[in-house]
Formats: sequence, structure tokens, C-alpha cells
Amino acid sequence: MSITIGGITAAPGEKAKGFLDAGTTSVNTYRVPLAVINGSRKGKTIGIIGGTHGTEFASIDAVIRAIKELDPKKMKGTVLAVPVLNGPQFEHKTQFLSPFDQLNQNRVFPGDKEGTLTHRIAYTVFENVIKRCDALLDCHGGDINEDIRGFTLAGKGDDEAVNKVALDMARCFPARYINLFQVAPTGLSMCAQARLGIPCVISEAGTPFPVREDEVRFHYEGIMNVLRYFGVIEGKPRMVEPVTSKGSARLRAEQGGIWKPAVSTDQMVKAGDVLGVVTDLFGEVKQTVKAPHGGVVGMMRCFYSVNCGESLVSVTFLE
Ligand SMILES: [Zn+2]
Repeated sequence: MSITIGGITAAPGEKAKGFLDAGTTSVNTYRVPLAVINGSRKGKTIGIIGGTHGTEFASIDAVIRAIKELDPKKMKGTVLAVPVLNGPQFEHKTQFLSPFDQLNQNRVFPGDKEGTLTHRIAYTVFENVIKRCDALLDCHGGDINEDIRGFTLAGKGDDEAVNKVALDMARCFPARYINLFQVAPTGLSMCAQARLGIPCVISEAGTPFPVREDEVRFHYEGIMNVLRYFGVIEGKPRMVEPVTSKGSARLRAEQGGIWKPAVSTDQMVKAGDVLGVVTDLFGEVKQTVKAPHGGVVGMMRCFYSVNCGESLVSVTFLE
């Protein structure tokens, strides 16, 4: 059966690409790019979103690679793939927030068709793409100020059968650990799990500069394994053992200055290990940041300057 979304139509065995209008600024129309990859045989529909945060480039690159590599003639089922959801942040390279309405794209789902641009982008993808899906992958990574080596969040809600599928999807990414994330009916794209029972996973890897091949592959291999898991493409998925995190701590600057990290992302640390220091502009150490608990470094700040209260580093506890 042919699939039509907006003005994009793909017959069985076809890949169609186009854009969905989301909202207008004073002179431009912002659009959501969408690839409809319709397998020659019937099967599950899997949604893959990149660029919900528009500077998380490694994840965007992986979604683009998946769109290019997937062959609908060999597929059983459908892939609906959005390479860059958040066009405003992608084009303006802002930190977390849209330059138009200062909103975080991943806090406004399921969106509002009468809201500001970020709300309308969420509404457009939720109504046209996410609602059609049997499972959803939302690919993220370090935003413009962050470096992340690779972990996943699996949606956790009231339905144990759905939770199990979400955990299996998270296991399809080659990550050291999985965070179980309590889903809510509004906010993240994962609200689709709470509202509609669609199993949801967020993959997190990468930093904007440079876009590293191993982190593009982290997302890409995860996407392909999820498609194998659902039988959309042939083969057996490679799945990791489900090591779930036991909590995490995000450490922040007590006062502004210069951030000098002493560890890197994905490094194991013990309680009390020095993770970095904040100095003043004369080189004097003002804050020594130590691990509050043993674990793995999840997120690392990659900006040199820091303002009071901003994130420096996170540690995820594995036991
Ligand atoms: Zn993100």
C-alpha cells in the first residue's frame, strides 16, 4: 500500500523524500524534512528522529546515513525518518533553545498547532510521523557545549510489555549502560510511550566539533539493530546486556571562571576522584570538582569558559 504524508508519497518498495511545513517566521517557512521508506512487504513502522536538538550532529549524520543506506525493496515494514527536526537550532547553532522562541524542542511534545514555532514543529512531527509508528527512536548527543560518548534512555511507563520492548530497543545500541527513563504525557518525544503506548528510546552520543565517526556509528548501528529486532531488515540484532544505571549526579560551577577537566567522557571514576577544576581568570583554583560516587563520566562540558550554575560534568552510577 502507498503511504502519503503531507505531499510525500512512497509506493511499496519506494523511498520518497520531502518536507512538511511546520510554521512561518516573518519571511520564511520552517519545514520538517522527512524520508518515507516504504518496504516492499508489510511490517512494522519505525520512526527515527535526528536533530530534535539541532546541534547534536553525530546523531543527525547517522539518521542521514540510514536514509541513504536503507533499501526499501529489501524491507518488510516502513521507516519514517526525520534527519533534522529542529531547523531553527540547526541553522543558528544555538545552545539547547530555539532562537525564535527560546524553547527546548524536547520539552514541548506533543506540541501545539497554535503555539510558537517550537510547539508547531513538535505538533507537525507528532501528528504526521510519531502517531503512525510502532516504535520510536529519537537520536541525540552532546549539545553545542557537551561531549557524550554513548548511552541510551529506555522509556519506562505503566505497561510492562511496552517497557520490555523499549529496553530491548535500547540494548540494540552498543552502550555501556542504559538509563531507565520515567515517561510522562508531555515534554519529551518519549511522551508517545505514555500517551500512545509506543515504545521509545533516546540514544545519546557525540559532540558537535568534531563529528566523530565512532559516535555516528554508535547511532547508526543502533538504528540498524532496532530495524533487525523488528524484522524490518534481515538479520539478527546484536544486543548488549542490559546494564541499567542506578542514578547520576550533575556537577555545576559554583562560580564563573574557566573549566579545566581532568577526565574524559566514558571514563570510570571512583568516589572522590578529581573530575576537574574551575579557576579564576588569574589561574587560581576556585573549585575542585570531585566524583560524589563511583561510576562512569556521562557528559563533559566542552566549553572553556563557564558561568555560575552551569553544568560541568555528570557521573552515572552503575552500582
Ligand atoms: Zn539532545
